[in-house]
Amino acid sequence: MASQEIETLASALARLPGLGPRSARRAVLWLVKRRETSLVQLLDALANVRETLVECDTCGNVDTSNPCGICASDKRDQRSLCVVEDVADLWALDRAKLFTGRYHVLGGRLSALEGVRPEDLRIGPLIDRVHAGGIDEVVLAMNATLEGQTTAHYIAERLEDAPVRITQLAHGLPVGGELDYLDEGTLAQALRARKPLG
Ligand SMILES: [Zn+2]
Repeated sequence: MASQEIETLASALARLPGLGPRSARRAVLWLVKRRETSLVQLLDALANVRETLVECDTCGNVDTSNPCGICASDKRDQRSLCVVEDVADLWALDRAKLFTGRYHVLGGRLSALEGVRPEDLRIGPLIDRVHAGGIDEVVLAMNATLEGQTTAHYIAERLEDAPVRITQLAHGLPVGGELDYLDEGTLAQALRARKPLG
C-alpha cells in the first residue's frame, strides 16, 4: 500500500518517455531511500533546468540563452540549415560533430493518426526563415519513419519555389529508426551521404 504522495510522484514520472508505471514506482522508491542525497540532487537539477533553460525563438533548440549558442555562433555555416523533428535529434546530430550549419526544430512530425497538422509544427517559421534568404541548402533530417518521411516531402513541396538545394539524410538509417537512438557513426554516415530529395 503506497501513500498518496508516492502514487502522485509515480504517476508524474510514469508520463516520462521510456518510463512505464512499474519503473516509475521503482524510481520513486529508489529516491525515497536516498532523500538526503540523490533526491536533493535531482530537485536542484530540476529547479536549475526550470530557471535557466529557454527555447530559442530562431531554431527551437533548448539552451540557456535565446538565441541559442548554435544560432549565435559565428563559427557556424550560415548557409546550411538542418531541419529536425525534435531537440533530441538536434543534440544527436550535433554530438556527431559533422554538421557545421544551423538547425531548425519542428517540434514533432505530421501525423494523421495523432492529428498533428502543419500548423501544429514550426513549419511556417521554417518557410519564412528560408525565404528570408542567405541559405543555400536545407537538409531534411527527419526520422526514417513513415510520418518522418511524409513530413520531409511536405516541407520539400512547400519549399519548391525557394532558391535552395533540398537534401535528406541517406537512408542507411534503419527503417523505422529514430535519429536519437542511432550511434554517432551511423548518423555521421547518413549525413555525409545525404542526397537530393525527390
Ligand atoms: Zn537557436
